[in-house]
Formats: sequence, C-alpha cells, structure tokens
Amino acid sequence: MDLAFLNKLKQIVGNQHVAFNPTDVEVYSYDASLAVRTPGAVVFPGNTNEIASVVRACAEARIPFVPRGFGTNLSGGSVAPEGGLVICLARLNRILDIHPKRRCAVVQPGVTNFELQNALAPKGFFFAPDPASQKVATLGGNIAENSGGPHCFKYGVTRNHVLGLQVVLADGEIVRLGGSTHDYTENDLCGFIIGGEGTLGIITEATVKILPLPEAVITMLAIYDNVTEAAQSVSKIIEGGIIPATLEMMDAPLIRAVEESFPSGYPLDASAVLIIEIDGPKTGLAGQAEQIKRICSENGCRHVREARDEAERDLLWAGRRGAFGAAARLAPNFLVMDCTVPRTMLPEALSRVAAVAKKHQLTHGNVFHAGDGNLHPLLLFDARGHDQLNLAHQAGFDIVKECVALGGTITGEHGVGAEKIEAMRLIFSEDDLDVQRSLKQVFDPLDLLNPGKIIPAPIERDTPPEPPITEKQNEYSLTPSDTREACEMVRRAFLNRTPLLPQGHGTQGGFGNLPTRPVIPLRSLKFSDVIDYDPANQVVTIGSGMRLSVLQKNRCVRIIPSADWWGWTSAALRGCVMALPVICCSG
Ligand SMILES: Cc1cc2nc3c(=O)[nH]c(=O)nc-3n(C[C@H](O)[C@H](O)[C@H](O)COP(=O)(O)OP(=O)(O)OC[C@H]3O[C@@H](n4cnc5c(N)ncnc54)[C@H](O)[C@@H]3O)c2cc1C
Repeated sequence: MDLAFLNKLKQIVGNQHVAFNPTDVEVYSYDASLAVRTPGAVVFPGNTNEIASVVRACAEARIPFVPRGFGTNLSGGSVAPEGGLVICLARLNRILDIHPKRRCAVVQPGVTNFELQNALAPKGFFFAPDPASQKVATLGGNIAENSGGPHCFKYGVTRNHVLGLQVVLADGEIVRLGGSTHDYTENDLCGFIIGGEGTLGIITEATVKILPLPEAVITMLAIYDNVTEAAQSVSKIIEGGIIPATLEMMDAPLIRAVEESFPSGYPLDASAVLIIEIDGPKTGLAGQAEQIKRICSENGCRHVREARDEAERDLLWAGRRGAFGAAARLAPNFLVMDCTVPRTMLPEALSRVAAVAKKHQLTHGNVFHAGDGNLHPLLLFDARGHDQLNLAHQAGFDIVKECVALGGTITGEHGVGAEKIEAMRLIFSEDDLDVQRSLKQVFDPLDLLNPGKIIPAPIERDTPPEPPITEKQNEYSLTPSDTREACEMVRRAFLNRTPLLPQGHGTQGGFGNLPTRPVIPLRSLKFSDVIDYDPANQVVTIGSGMRLSVLQKNRCVRIIPSADWWGWTSAALRGCVMALPVICCSG
C-alpha cells in the first residue's frame, strides 16, 4: 500500500493503530466464511471523527475500504477488496447510555451483543436479537447484517430493534438517522443502513430498543426419532396459535458433535431435537407448555423434557450456541448455508437438502432457527481433497435454488456478502438489480465502500424500444386495477416527467409536507383483495389498498408491518408502490 497513504493514516489514528506488515494483516484476510483476501492495511480508529478522516483519505486516494467488527460473518462480507483497507471498529467498544425509562440504550459499534446483554440484565432488561455468535459478534456487525437469533422468532430481527444510527458516509460526512423512538420524521434511512452489510455507510453509534426481561421462562427439549416429524411439529405448534420465544432444531450429526464438545444432555440416539422456549407472564405459561407437549406428542415426539432450573436451561442453550464450533469435530471444513423457506415447507426442504448433499457425495448436518423456516445446512468436506471446496460451493448453490423453488429466499440472516452474490439473480431481475445499483451509486458514487459485495455485476442487455406515448394521462387521478397497469402508468408518467403521488384512501392527505406543485394521485383503491392467507406461516398477502379495519375484521389478524430493504426499495423505486402487498402478521 502506498507509503504516503499509510503515513496519512498514522497521522489520523496514531502509529500504533495502523497495521500493514504482512503477518499482521494476514489475520484480517478472512472472516467466518470460506472467503480469503489479504488487505493492504488495517486501521483501528478510536472515534467517529477519526473514522470520517480515514474515509476522506480513502476517497482522496481512491482506496477501497471495508468496515469490520469481529469478522464472524458467514458470507465473506468483511473480507477486504484486493489491496484495500480494513477499518476495524474494535476500539469503539463503549456502552454510552442505558435509559430504562425510555427503553433504549446507546452503544458504540464495537460492543459485543453479549456485553450489552450483561449490562442490561441487572437492570431487568434485554436486547432481543441474540445471534448464536453473540459472545464474539459486535453490535455494528449485527446491525449491518440485520442479524437474527433464536429469540428473533418471537421478537423480530435486529432491524426491529434499532431506533437511530450515527453513520459515516462514503465521502466522510457524519450523519444521524432515526432517533430514540421508532417514529421517524424522515424516510426510514436507517432501514437502508441496517442489513446494508457495510456497503452504504459505517455505523459509529446506535440507539437500540431494550425490553424488560420476561417474568417467567420455560425451556423444553423435544426429542424425535424422525427429522420430518420434528419439522412438522414446528408448523403445528404455530398453527395451534402459540408463538414460542424460540423454536430451534438440530439433527443427529450435530447432536453427536455437540455432545462430544459440550455435553448438554441431548440424547445421542435421537434423530432430531427441538429446543422450545416460551416466555412471558407467569400466569398461563405452564398451560402453554402442556399444549406444546401435546402437539409434539401428537406429531411423533418421543419425549419432551423440561429444564428444571436455570443451570439446565443454560446447558441446553450452551449446546445450541456451540453447534457450529462443534461441527469442527465432523470434518476439517464445512460450509454453512443460510436460506429460508415458508415453515410449512421445512420437511420438504430438509429432504431436498439431503438429496443435494447425496448428489454431490457430501455429508451434512442441520442446526437451525426452525420457527423462522431459516435453514442452516452444514456441508462437511476436507478442502485438501481434489476440488472439494468447489464441490461444496456447488452443492450450496443447489440448496439455495431448491429453497427458492419452495417459495423461500437466499438468506435468512447471514447476508449475501461475496458468497451469495450470484444467488441474487435467483430472486431479483436485472431491473431490480439495476435499482439496487443506483441506490449504491447514490450512497457511494466512487464505489469504494465494501465494493464487490451483495450486488452482482450487470449483464449486457438489449435495450427494448420504448413504446410510443399515445394516451393522455387522466388529469385528476389514476386508479390502476392491477400491478401491470400501475407499472404502465408510472412508466408513462416518468416518460412525460409527470409527478405522481401514491395514495391510498387519502385519509392522511392533508398532513405533513404537502406537494408544492401539481401532482396526479395514483390511487391503490382497487388493490383491495386478500391475495393469500396462510396462518400456518403467519403471513397474509394483501393488496395495498385494503383497509386495515376490513382485514382485521375478516381475518382475525394483528398486523406488524415489516420490510426487507433490498426487496422493498427495489419494488418501491421501480414505481411499483402499489404492488407492495406483503405484510407479516401474527395472531
Ligand atoms: C458460530 C457462529 C454462529 C452464528 N450465529 C448467528 C446467528 O444465530 N444469527 C446471525 O444472524 N448470525 C450468526 N452468525 C454470523 C455473524 O456472527 C453475524 O453476522 C454477526 O452479526 C457479525 O458480526 P461481526 O462483528 O463479526 O461483523 P463482521 O463479520 O466483522 O462484519 C459483518 C458485515 O458487517 C459490516 N460491518 C461490520 N461492522 C460495521 C459497522 N460498524 N458499520 C457498517 N458495517 C459494518 C462488515 O463490512 C461486513 O459486511 C454466526 C457466526 C458464527 C461464526
């Protein structure tokens, strides 16, 4: 790396906080995935201003750079671009404030998830996202990856628990997004950064939501002689109207590996176990546990064991959290896959995973967040064998394809990074990807911030001829009947440079920043159907013009809106706002 640039870094952060000799930087050449690339240097800034100065220096010298927490991600996200700079956030490791009354905490990005939990517990609070790696993963990494964890089934993933962020943008500007409540007065710009995998900005401070510890907890181990029956029990429990705090599953190879590493009381002769935890007010919890035990028994469970005390509960969890580590006993190398299917598809997905592994002559095991339908097949191999690494990647890609074919998606929580970049084409069209490329361009015009991650390279396309504009726009409002018509109207308005105002029933029409020039309302009134109602997966798909009151009256559902930013923005920016019908519900 250029000497003048290294000297500049040393001026900003101090000599002792820049690493550039080959042995030192080698340590930062990998993360927990199988990707490896040696950076040109690693810098360890101590505060936000230093980070901003480092970023400005990178922009001036056109040096690509990547933010890094503790490098535990499983998709190659924090591996540096060739010869690029790693900006390690380990020194920003302070919990700045905990506000029990306002139910939030302010943290620096290098604090680990576990350190925050330990600081909150004595005050009677917890932070709901709890990745299995919580002892060694930073909150900055959790936010950048939108991490999940066992308790995210009930409480939601990281994005549901981030209120505000301080971010250094790709040109070194420091901005604050969101605040200390969920009531954003701006567009949800935090939503872009959360799950952005360090490609849009560097998180230097976060205000996160904290929750009171539940009054009571019951943890159970359900033991099965058959993997399919364990998977079936998962959707039956939810169909039964119960939302456990966790619903985790592990199959025989992992059970044996875990028991050899940290004896946790899992039966060695079982084909699968479910770790089911319920929490909440004491009243009624025992009844719920009985209901779960009954459902498990009706679905082939051999036995359900309840943890008698905290020590037994901790033991059950130690096994689950240590499962990836324990897998090292099964083979010299493994590739952890991460994809999601509707949870009713779990039995089919598990059998397809087994078929793919068999086809590629690989052994495998499963340990995963079953409640979320979030699979983690571990493909076991020995990288020293001929072409074994390629074989594992091919098998991984085939598994992702199978999950997509079952109505699932390419990642549940581990991100896209470098590893799943080609898999993006399985779920996004080239048009979708173009929108995501434009978004990246807005945040990072020089493409220096963690380049080469998430979005695959564009494919050459023939540009279709633009159809002539024949119809005159309706002067007053447009009310499309279907998505295709909405797209057409938006396209025509775009070509005519006509401003549109997406509108529902117009009940909030007089509030907020009103348009200062004439706009044509594009109304969603005709999108009022229930497209799909799937209580076993807790999903209802509706047209965006449906009134909430009508939906709730007819279907007995409680709606908690959520949106994945890549999916959401790609649809919204394409002008298909009317076609955003997916709302997750529980109840
Ligand atoms: C044994 C094991 C178990 C795991 N279990 C889970 C699990 O249950 N759930 C789950 O979701 N994940 C899990 N993971 C994956 C991983 O731990 C998470 O993705 C974690 O959030 C990464 O945190 P980190 O500090 O290691 O981030 P890193 O790996 O250093 O970085 C991850 C990504 O975030 C970016 N980044 C890091 N810090 C910042 C920042 N301050 N600002 C902007 N971008 C940043 C990086 O550029 C990179 O793209 C597991 C991993 C292991 C090894």
